[in-house]
Parts: sequence; structure tokens; C-alpha cells
Amino acid sequence: MHQTNADIRRLDIEHFIHPYTDFATFKSEGSQIAARASGVHVIDENGQRYVDGIAGLWCVNLGHGRREIVDAIAEQAATMQYYNPFGHTTNIPATLLAAELAELLPGSLNHVFYTTGGSTANDLAIRMVHYYFNRRGMPRKKKIISRVDAYHGSTYVTARLTGIHATKYDFDEVAEGLVHHVSAANLYRRPAGMDEAAFCNHLVSEFEDRILQLGPDNVAAFIAEPIMGAGGVMVAPAGYHARMHAICRRYGMLYIADEVVTAFGRLGEWSASETLYGYTPDIMIVAKGLTSGYVPLGAAIFSSEIYDVISTPQRKGAVLSLGFTYTGHAVACAAGRATIAMMKRDDVNQHVRKIGPLFQGLLSSLRSFEVVGDVRGSHLMAGIELVKDRHQRLPFGAEVGAAHRVFLACRRRGLIVRPIGNVVVLSPPLVFSQEDCRETCRIMSEAVEEVTPALLAA
Ligand code: PMP
Repeated sequence: MHQTNADIRRLDIEHFIHPYTDFATFKSEGSQIAARASGVHVIDENGQRYVDGIAGLWCVNLGHGRREIVDAIAEQAATMQYYNPFGHTTNIPATLLAAELAELLPGSLNHVFYTTGGSTANDLAIRMVHYYFNRRGMPRKKKIISRVDAYHGSTYVTARLTGIHATKYDFDEVAEGLVHHVSAANLYRRPAGMDEAAFCNHLVSEFEDRILQLGPDNVAAFIAEPIMGAGGVMVAPAGYHARMHAICRRYGMLYIADEVVTAFGRLGEWSASETLYGYTPDIMIVAKGLTSGYVPLGAAIFSSEIYDVISTPQRKGAVLSLGFTYTGHAVACAAGRATIAMMKRDDVNQHVRKIGPLFQGLLSSLRSFEVVGDVRGSHLMAGIELVKDRHQRLPFGAEVGAAHRVFLACRRRGLIVRPIGNVVVLSPPLVFSQEDCRETCRIMSEAVEEVTPALLAA
């Protein structure tokens, strides 16, 4: 039976619980259907084309419909779609992708544990950190320090790591005492009178004080995104990550870099930590761009030092008892290999390094609007923060839906952006051309101009 668009919309309302959905409007308005996608465009059920300003959800880095990735997926599915990787069985794409990741990622990040996405990779990393310290005879060293406004996932433990208040309403928290949040590296909302360097000192001292207060023997790790994504695209003050890393070293803590958004080219590098911010994490988390969003795949990548501890037999017969049915899924890993091959072939990182400054430069003209408080980001990752009063940096109340209004005004003009609180986020496919950058920024500008009077009156 052929289903009409109306059928799909009705069935969707009746049966599909969408992530991050506002039920105040969902049941009456229903969903827009993303029906097809090609290159940097997504096409809805009525054939309307939109520039995909967010690469699906910070993930479709190489754009939609890339034949090479589709073919790699089909070929692997036909050869062997799946076989379990438990114990001493492997599959060829999983092994080869792990070796490629070891080659591309910094330091001794040479040991890959595959998961199904970013949340599962972060969750697994926390279990592994605990296992590591247990094996080192430090069973009390368990607490994790995260940050306000961080996003690390949606499983029970990663929701606990997440520091975005709006995600917490009416949900419970697990593992009381496990996670502690320090301030976000939010330069725009730093305390009045502090310059960037003083703010950095302030954040580093707060971190060290918190460790001392919790007791260094109790604190296992720090987790941070190189640039906060879902928290509103926050670029840390210069030197911040390297200094936080040095503090971790001082207290025998591990540094977990959550590069789910930032790795695989979004910042013009295979990963951002070492190349852009000068520190080498002990654990790196990747997902999203790893397969350019074609199939789900995530990974936690461990340093040799951690691997040595977790891989040294302690008791006869005791095995490393964790893992997922789909750890190292052959089709997903084939998609990852095809993604990396295309990134190398087309030198996508170099393209992003070239186009990024143009994109950021064009967006910075939005500062001329009275409701725009801040335009920030790096390369192809940007956030535009809307404010009620920019001299006092006064935020709009959530009821105003400021960024959502910009989202709607952009969508009417054929551009998809992502509203998060008062921040409009852009994270386009990395294959964006100069013309795509110009069109996106022109539409953003028109949209902000359109909503400005209503926002000022709100
Ligand atoms: N970490 C970061 C930094 C993310 O942005 C996300 C997803 N937006 C996640 C983890 C969770 O990844 P996933 O949704 O694939 O579970």
C-alpha cells in the first residue's frame, strides 16, 4: 500500500517518539518530513529544497548521497554484513579502521573500542576509566569532573556528565557523587571586568580547587569537548585545554576529550585536541563524522598506557567483560574507512582550513543587528547568541523562543539551522563551497533582520 505524506505524518504522531521534542506543539503540528538529500541539500516531502546548515546534526560531513560511501556500505553488506567481534573473532573493516584511526590520531591513542555512537562511547569510557583505576589498585579514584553546559550524551551516565540544565527537567540523575561540574569556558558570559587571560586563570583555579576539595585520590578524570557544541558553541580561552590537561597530570587524572563533533574535519583537522589546542588526551571519543553520518558508529580510543593496564591478565579466566553486539559492525566500519579515504583523497581538512575563515568572517557581519550579542566559533562550527540587551548581555527568556524564530525565518528561506536556547547553531557539511557560505550567511542575515522588531518588542 502506498502511504501518502498525510499518512506518514499521522503515523509519526501516533508512533514515533522523537528526541528533543516539544509536546506543546508536536501533536498539533506534526513533523516536517525529510524525504531525500543530496550534496549540501535536504529535500522535504513537498520537494522543497533546503541548504543543510547543520550537516544533519553535526555529522554529514561529506554531504549527502556520496556514491563512494554508499558503495562501500553495499559491498560490505554483500560480503559479510555482520559477525560478532567478541573474544578472538574479528572482521576486516573493523581491524583496518582501528589501524587507520591509530595512525591519524595523536600520541599513543592507538587502541580503539567501537560503540554505536557518541553516548555509548562516553559511557563505555567512564566504565573503562573505573576499571583502569581498580586494576591499578586505586578503587576510590572514581569521580569525574565535567562542565556546566557540556553535552556528552543521553544514556543514564552520559546525561549525568551533561551539564545543560534544560535537559534535566523531570528526569532523575544516577550515581550521586560520581560527576561534578565546573564552570563552562564561556568567554561571552565571563564575570564582568575579567579579560580572556584572567578568565582562563579563574577557570583553571576553580578546577584545581574542586579537585583538592574532592580529594585527588577520589578524582579519576576530566571530560571536555574542545569546543562545546550543543551547549552553544563555546570556544575556550587561549591556553585553557593545555592548562586543564596539565592539572590532570599533576593529580594523576585522565583527560577525556569528547571529539564527537570536532574530529574528522569540522575544525580542519583529523582531531582538534593536540593540533589546535596543544594537549594529548588519554582517551578520545569520536562518532558522527567518523562515518559522515551514513551509519551509526562511535569509538573510544585509549592511550597505550591505559591499554597496557586493561590488557594485562590479572586472574586466569578473567575477561574484559564489556561490549556491544554491534561493536565493530562490519558495515559501519566500512563506511568509516570510505569516509577517511574520501577525506584524504579530496583533502577535506585543507578545504575546511581555507573556507572556515570566510564562513566565520561572513557570519561576523551579523554583529550589526541589535539582537545579536555574540558571533563565535571556529572553521565550520558557529554559534550566534541572541540577546535582549547587548550592552548588559541580557538573555531572552525561554518563552520568547528567540533562536527558534530565527530557525523558522531561515527555513522559510530555504536554510536549516539549529536553535539551542538563545543560540543559533551552524555546522554545515565540510564540502560547503564559497557560494554555499555566502548563501547561508545571506539567509541568516535576512532572517535575523526579519525577526529583530518582534524580538525587541518581546
Ligand atoms: N558528545 C558530544 C560532544 C555530542 O555533541 C554528542 C551528540 N550531539 C554526543 C556526545 C552524543 O552522541 P550520540 O548522539 O551519537 O550518542
